[in-house]
Amino acid sequence: MRVLVISDIHANLTALEAVLADAGPVEAVWCLGDLVGYGPDPNECVARVRALPELVCLVGNHDKAALGEIDVAEFNPEAQIAVEWTQQALSAETGAYLRSLSGREAAGRYTLAHGSPRRPVWEYITDAEVAGANFAHFDTPFCLVGHTHSPALYVALDSGCEEYYPLYGAGAMSLGPERTILNPGSVGQPRDRNPQAAYALLDPQANLWEYRRVPYDIPAVQERMKSAGLPERLIRRLAVGW
Ligand code: ZN
Repeated sequence: MRVLVISDIHANLTALEAVLADAGPVEAVWCLGDLVGYGPDPNECVARVRALPELVCLVGNHDKAALGEIDVAEFNPEAQIAVEWTQQALSAETGAYLRSLSGREAAGRYTLAHGSPRRPVWEYITDAEVAGANFAHFDTPFCLVGHTHSPALYVALDSGCEEYYPLYGAGAMSLGPERTILNPGSVGQPRDRNPQAAYALLDPQANLWEYRRVPYDIPAVQERMKSAGLPERLIRRLAVGW
């Protein structure tokens, strides 16, 4: 079985289409949240994700901000402007769908959370210490998270939690027997200094995990962001993957 694992699309339809084309046929899709926010195509991205097969989809903090469900005071100024733009752009249908989503789900031997199993919408798992503390907050062997926009994996060893970053953000591996937290990176706004869209393919029966990167037409997205009047810094960061 091939499961496409995607996260943090952030209203970037061009990156999403590149990922779907690169992944090829899959039996199921697990989307870890933040479908909207930052980018120019919120309704298009949500419609595209909703049409994917056997979908499990989570809500992220930017989705909740676009719905007006959370205070954006903690967001940086450019993110706040993007939230306001997204709130205006969001259709009633897109809003109703995002409102129906949860920040955490279970799928067989995998727990799915946007940020972390402990605090699904908000917590960033950015180091082994935070990851280590989160193993007590899910029961399955494996947990998939997004939110940081950087591919990473954290393995629970007897000696403590070990942190690994995939070389160049790509590569395949088999999971287990140790419990593991995995982050596929971000489709629409990578922040690991690699501007290519990030995602992962999972075979949940064989516990095979593959990080992948795919180039996409970044200038086309930047043009749409300019036309939408989105902040310059958000437009520039796509090209440098930060
Ligand atoms: Zn995000």
